[in-house]
Amino acid sequence: MKENPSVFPMGKELPETFSKYFIGQAYLQPLTEKGGPISNVTFEPGCRNNWHIHHKGGQILLVTGGRGWYQAWGQPAQELHPGDVVNIPPEVKHWHGAAADSWFSHLAVEVTAEGASNEWLEPVTDEQYEKL
Ligand code: MN
Repeated sequence: MKENPSVFPMGKELPETFSKYFIGQAYLQPLTEKGGPISNVTFEPGCRNNWHIHHKGGQILLVTGGRGWYQAWGQPAQELHPGDVVNIPPEVKHWHGAAADSWFSHLAVEVTAEGASNEWLEPVTDEQYEKL
């Protein structure tokens, strides 16, 4: 059953252009296009995005609900709780998503930069994820 762990609206299921880079179901609600654009992203339990890189601009995650994970390539995964802030520098390969047994939500702040882009890479395998 759908559960919103945040005070922000959950929005709709991710469009196909993003969902193909996720395992499990996530929801997206754009909140503002002003400044660095901000979206609310909600992950069902077990849902995570593929390894990816934000080129040039980077990304800031503001955790608003549930329990989840952030992991940078070659680093241990970091457990996330409401109130946590993750600064993801440009060019760092990483993923983020829910814990296996919890809904999870964060605001994703796009750090704008000229020529910024996202590069989507391989999925976080069940083997990698189950080690958490
Ligand atoms: Mn990211």
